[in-house]
Amino acid sequence: MKFNTKTIHGGQQHDPSTGAVMTPIFQTSTYVQQSPGKHKGYEYSRGENPTRHALEKAFASIENGSHGLAFASGLAATDCVLRLFNSGDHIIAGDDLYGGSYRMFTLLFSKYGLKFSFVDMNNPENVANAITDNTKLIWLETPTNPLLKVADISAITAIAKANNLLTAVDNTFATPYNQRPLEMGADIVMHSATKYLGGHSDVVMGALMVKDDKLAKDLHFIQFAAGAIAGPMDCFLALRGVKTLALRVQRHNENAQLVAEFLNKHPKVETVYYPGLESHPNHEVAKSQMRGFGGMLSFRLKDKSKETTFKMLENFNVITLAESLGGVESLVNHPATMTHASIPAVEREKLGITDSLTRLSVGVEDVNDLIDDIANALKLV
Ligand SMILES: *Cc1c(COP(=O)(O)O)cnc(C)c1O
Repeated sequence: MKFNTKTIHGGQQHDPSTGAVMTPIFQTSTYVQQSPGKHKGYEYSRGENPTRHALEKAFASIENGSHGLAFASGLAATDCVLRLFNSGDHIIAGDDLYGGSYRMFTLLFSKYGLKFSFVDMNNPENVANAITDNTKLIWLETPTNPLLKVADISAITAIAKANNLLTAVDNTFATPYNQRPLEMGADIVMHSATKYLGGHSDVVMGALMVKDDKLAKDLHFIQFAAGAIAGPMDCFLALRGVKTLALRVQRHNENAQLVAEFLNKHPKVETVYYPGLESHPNHEVAKSQMRGFGGMLSFRLKDKSKETTFKMLENFNVITLAESLGGVESLVNHPATMTHASIPAVEREKLGITDSLTRLSVGVEDVNDLIDDIANALKLV
């Protein structure tokens, strides 16, 4: 099956009890048993639910994995991965991570004795140099949030394999339409399905996809034992979203490329961060591992004052000022005060998440309306 067919049919079957074409919302916590321990494979919905099951199969299919798991949020999915490890284990992560991942690593899991190193993954050598005897996992996000840095997935998974380490990739920004890390040697793919997989800004959900049976079993145990599952209604909505993933991402890719090129030529803009621009420092790596460059971009105005950037942000009409990303509607965000506020100011400055940085999730509206909206907001500053 090709990708665009998988988004619609991958792992799906019509409901065997009624013939319903779409898997119904099985809003039930429990299931009848004919005799104690004798049942149809469903006992209690923390363990198994048919709507979640259908979605998890779709998740596995679109990342070309053999198992998928659906969680209450993207961070609940990340939490499940980290619970594979023991006190004293060491994890290498990128230095430009989603703020919530960074917060979980440094403020939550460090309490339980997990050790973290944050390195610039633009250069795979930095990863190799950070490996210690206790290293167990490489946590990779590419392209990164918010600076759209690109890491060479195959080069990093090769280093991981040579050192017997697992690699997990947060593939939220790219989506499996553009990039499939399991095919490049990664062991685990993580998604905030809140974003492109759901695609309509109406669900908070997380996903894990793997291809190894033993790893799937361990993750399923944690999902069941810790309990951060996705509910049936949300699973139905996410499954509905996945069916149009290919169509949406094609348009996100096209629109973001045009918006990036427009911004890149604009006299008031200093830098545009988008892997689809030839000026992006890792454009060649991006081209080699991505089918398209995604709907996310960031940019920095020449006028570095917070007031000027805020003025622009207050003057969009079509584009909405809000956290989150990946929905059909365009959203704009000020990382330093919104999504990335949990990163200490000193760290933020070092990384380049300063007051002049704006992040844009380019939606699937008519691109001319988006460009007019940006042009107008920039005229006012
Ligand atoms: C949003 C996001 C997350 C966290 O997902 P939630 O669904 O908000 O818990 C993780 N990684 C990236 C790249 C994200 O954008």
